[in-house]
Amino acid sequence: MNALIKKDERLLHKVESFPIKGFLETSLLDWCGKLSAVLFLPGCNFRCPYCHNTELVLQPHKLPDVSMDYVLRRLRKFKGWIDGIVVTGGEPTLQPALPSFIRRIKKKNWLVKLDTNGSNIDMLKQLIDEQLLDCVALDIKAPLNEVDYYRATGRCFIIESIKECLELLKSSNIDYELRTTVCPGLIDKKKLKQLLPQIKGAKRLVLQNFRPSQTIDSRLQHLMPYPKEYMQELGQMSEGYVNELRVVE
Ligand code: SF4
Repeated sequence: MNALIKKDERLLHKVESFPIKGFLETSLLDWCGKLSAVLFLPGCNFRCPYCHNTELVLQPHKLPDVSMDYVLRRLRKFKGWIDGIVVTGGEPTLQPALPSFIRRIKKKNWLVKLDTNGSNIDMLKQLIDEQLLDCVALDIKAPLNEVDYYRATGRCFIIESIKECLELLKSSNIDYELRTTVCPGLIDKKKLKQLLPQIKGAKRLVLQNFRPSQTIDSRLQHLMPYPKEYMQELGQMSEGYVNELRVVE
């Protein structure tokens, strides 16, 4: 019993000093159909070449901290306006105190959406089991094999966790979407054709076009995104594999 109390105290302390590195008070883009606040957590275990959150991923210590108290105070002002809170990164599941942090948000009766790259099945399972999430956006970066995933993320041996996250979401009652950034050189029609059967039956797929600004791999900053017509063709190819589809051109 004493050990449990001590653990709770430690987690409580961690929540007080929980690392929030960015706070967007209102957004219409981060939770489809909802007005949300967005919290950005530092660090990521992936190195996607097209990532825009360069500083948050590579040098989070250079960004100022936003205190939890400040966030909660501001959110109180938006009660009744905002539908929920998006917890994003970086990769939020790298923070061991994430469950305690979300528990605290849920106590204030906010809806919570988590954005994750799928590398931490254990934490996702815990959060879902404890009913701490109302929506999850799971990144699907490439066809689900080690070679393509390594090219898209710079990391090996993560496929099993991502597949498990996908199956967990499919078998849960939770609202979720899969998000694929369509970056030339990483995703094309051939790659999407490999990927679609692997996610068949998923609730919602968002295909979002690559944007060439402030990318982790600076060589991509001059890469042209796919034209609108190509994105539409990818959308047409995806019909029938998922229940809902959104193409962000
Ligand atoms: S795109 Fe997402 S998963 Fe990839 S490096 Fe950036 S924050 Fe991490």
